[in-house]
Amino acid sequence: MPGRLFVVAGPSGVGKGTIIRQLIGRWPFYLSVSATTRAPRPGEVHGVNYVFLSDEQFDQWVGDDRFLEWAEFAGRRYGSPRQPVEEQLAAGNDVILEIEVQGAMQIKQRVDDAVFVFIEPPSMNELEERLSRRGDTGNIEPRLERARAELALADQFDHRIVNEVLADAVAGLLSVVARPEGSRT
Ligand code: 5GP
Repeated sequence: MPGRLFVVAGPSGVGKGTIIRQLIGRWPFYLSVSATTRAPRPGEVHGVNYVFLSDEQFDQWVGDDRFLEWAEFAGRRYGSPRQPVEEQLAAGNDVILEIEVQGAMQIKQRVDDAVFVFIEPPSMNELEERLSRRGDTGNIEPRLERARAELALADQFDHRIVNEVLADAVAGLLSVVARPEGSRT
């Protein structure tokens, strides 16, 4: 039986990565490693956090149809490599894509049975504070602007989870992934 594809989206800084990391050991899944043209943050490792590509390399990957989806975000490009995701699904493993909303919308058009989860901040103020704490100084305003546009698309998702209390958000996501085969309700 093939694995299920879960698309977890929501504004930058909302805590998608933190929530997903808390699932490790509680539910078996493959987390897709995206490619990006942005520079690594301190501590980020090539091939682990992201595959860091030059603009030329990214163009090449797009031309070779190596992405399931890709989108621009804050002046950089991000994409989900197709091959590892397809291999994992074919092997029966569940897969998570942690991506922004435009990419999620592309997956929605291309993959019939993916499950879409939107992670929301408790408020825009809280999101701004989280972005500041993460050290995205100078880069916050475009991310907040994008967040407003992303929140407007939240109703396109099968499930919405507010990340106010981390443990509750993790429990919310666990209850989604634990549902029977591909359930959307
Ligand atoms: P960051 O620069 O903070 O790591 O990521 C910026 C945004 O890009 C986040 O919302 C993140 O989820 C999203 N993102 C990361 N990888 C991908 C990807 O492969 N495709 C798309 N569409 N968005 C991604």
